[in-house]
Amino acid sequence: MAEMYASIIIDISHENVDRVFQYRIPEKLREEICIGTLVCVPFGSGNRTRKGYVVDIGEKADYDREKIKDIGSVAPGSLTADTRAIQLAWWMKERYGSTMNQALKTVLPVKRKVKARNRQVVQSLLGETRPAGPVSLNEEQRVIADQFADAWKRRDLTPMLIHGITGSGKTEVYMEMIQHVLDQGRQVIVLIPEISLTYQTVMRFYRRFGDQISVMHSRLSAGERFDQYERARRGETKVMIGARSALFTMFPDLGLIVMDEEHESAYKSETTPRYHAREVAEQLARMSGAMFVMGSATPSLEAYTKARAGIYRLAVLKHRAGAGASLATAEVVDLRRELAEGNKSIFSRRLSELIRDRLDKGEQTMLFMNRRGYASFVSCRSCGEAVKCPHCDVSLTLHNRSRLVCHYCGYTVPVPAKCPSCGSPYLAGFGTGTQKLEALAGAMFPDARILRMDLDTTSKKGGHEEILSSFAKGEADILIGTQMIVKGHDFPGVTLVGILAADLSLYAPDYRSAERTFQLLVQAAGRAGRGKRQGIALIQTYVPEHYSIQAAAAQDYETFYRQEMAYRRLLSYPPASHMLSIQIAGKDEALVSHMTDQVAAAAGRSFGREIQLIGPVPAPVYKVNDIYRKILYMKQENYDILIKIQKYVQTRWDGTDSCKKLTIQYDFS
Ligand code: ADP
Ligand code: ZN
Ligand code: ZN
Repeated sequence: MAEMYASIIIDISHENVDRVFQYRIPEKLREEICIGTLVCVPFGSGNRTRKGYVVDIGEKADYDREKIKDIGSVAPGSLTADTRAIQLAWWMKERYGSTMNQALKTVLPVKRKVKARNRQVVQSLLGETRPAGPVSLNEEQRVIADQFADAWKRRDLTPMLIHGITGSGKTEVYMEMIQHVLDQGRQVIVLIPEISLTYQTVMRFYRRFGDQISVMHSRLSAGERFDQYERARRGETKVMIGARSALFTMFPDLGLIVMDEEHESAYKSETTPRYHAREVAEQLARMSGAMFVMGSATPSLEAYTKARAGIYRLAVLKHRAGAGASLATAEVVDLRRELAEGNKSIFSRRLSELIRDRLDKGEQTMLFMNRRGYASFVSCRSCGEAVKCPHCDVSLTLHNRSRLVCHYCGYTVPVPAKCPSCGSPYLAGFGTGTQKLEALAGAMFPDARILRMDLDTTSKKGGHEEILSSFAKGEADILIGTQMIVKGHDFPGVTLVGILAADLSLYAPDYRSAERTFQLLVQAAGRAGRGKRQGIALIQTYVPEHYSIQAAAAQDYETFYRQEMAYRRLLSYPPASHMLSIQIAGKDEALVSHMTDQVAAAAGRSFGREIQLIGPVPAPVYKVNDIYRKILYMKQENYDILIKIQKYVQTRWDGTDSCKKLTIQYDFS
């Protein structure tokens, strides 16, 4: 029988998780040892016994066989939270094509010293509040909570997807489920997209669960994060609320993972391993014997497809929960007609009329503008060139009328006096950013108190919360903003939401652009009419006939789903098929092109009949930070075949010298 070797990490909370040591697995222990097992090994020159985790198993010895020591024994109580973390890392490595090291770094928190004062971070965020009891659930909500309790009793761990319209009371349902699980002595992870992780949201949980909760957000330092993870591991915290990375809280006995706003793109990691939190949560729940509950007003096509196939249990909330609250009515305004009839303003006549009406009645308005499409850049009136970042393939964005900033690499310069391309002094700001919108609204409604929320106004600490709470208190009549204002806030005084150019997000170079547009419009419209008065959502667009806009205006998810799935099927896009994107990047443009062509050719030769191969094409932004990037896409219904291709490519890549100057990244969807 071939010898077996295990790679072992001795100190797993160390930054250097790549320091693994190889040991031989004695035959008598073979049955007992798997990935994640805690074992006792002789370590160092004195051969003192230390504990370590098995992170890899194989038949190949990396050193002189004679010098490899034997594993002593399996440590008692070896199935720990860390075991689960390592098994999860292994699963991620396999599924997303990263190295074990990259996966471990994602899953295991790194030990850092915490400064003494940091312990109070959460407490100061939460302040002084008295706990409040639960609201009594309405009938729809009760049905779902009961289904959950019933499934829990039967140990039926089928993940649940709650499709509930905005304001239907999903959060109340989650809290009921959380209470149920806490009562059984188990712990809970609540995932909320960073952008919705506001004071208001956290407060709701705090009022219900008090000190049992802990919050993990991106503004915490590495030390603070580690401290949070540790407290959870010791069982001092029972509910961890946070963005994507809260998923890696290793509770002793996890009972439930809740994922709010399941459709949010922020749940997908942008660094290797490029995991999706929904998939990892599903896996972690399975490994832990925990329930997994997702919720959204606009479920991702992936989740909804699984729900229709019975892989997820679908639960539905059709009505707004708040007393007297009902869904806003939506109206669509055709901007082409406005222009044809002589209105060149950014406000359609209907929108100005409605804003005027709200001002007269003392009600509030939100004006939403898609940041991506509307970032203002500076261009030359003589030669027409936009001023670009010297390191990236994008136009620079104008900030506060004085500086140009690159949103990709952070490069910044004062607005130049002359055109960098032709030397002409006639440069002009172009496009309509939120700042410009604010100025236009101010000129049109001089009596209105206007607040603006975008990257400029929220970059200082607390800016975000300050603006929101000021608006919530009625200190302004109009709130102008980007995506930030449409996520998860409850403003009962808002009876009008104006969406200035709904179709801009449709032209993003991404097969999901219609889905994103639909989600954004439904969420934005969902901001209106949360109180007792009926709200209106006004959608301005140049393509009123587009199905994503039509369906959003009608708040008709099913119709949107059907049309969008037909399109995905036609073009074999996820979730109709799976897709592997391989991105190759480097400073040497010619080498990047050459190697991408090589990979495409090799994949084509070996797998050409099994996959649909697209590209190589330049990345949507070809150059970033002086690095050139090219992409290959491969489509195939069977995920396992894509994994096979990824492994094949990686093996050849590792064996090619010139590839050392390049990076390769895999993205599965
Ligand atoms: P969602 O998470 O689906 O957007 P929320 O849970 O935020 O919805 O609920 C929307 C509003 O309705 C909140 O103000 C909430 O307090 C209120 N609400 C939810 N459920 C009930 C209920 N059963 N009775 C009264 N008010 C409720
Ligand atoms: Zn010029
Ligand atoms: Zn740049």
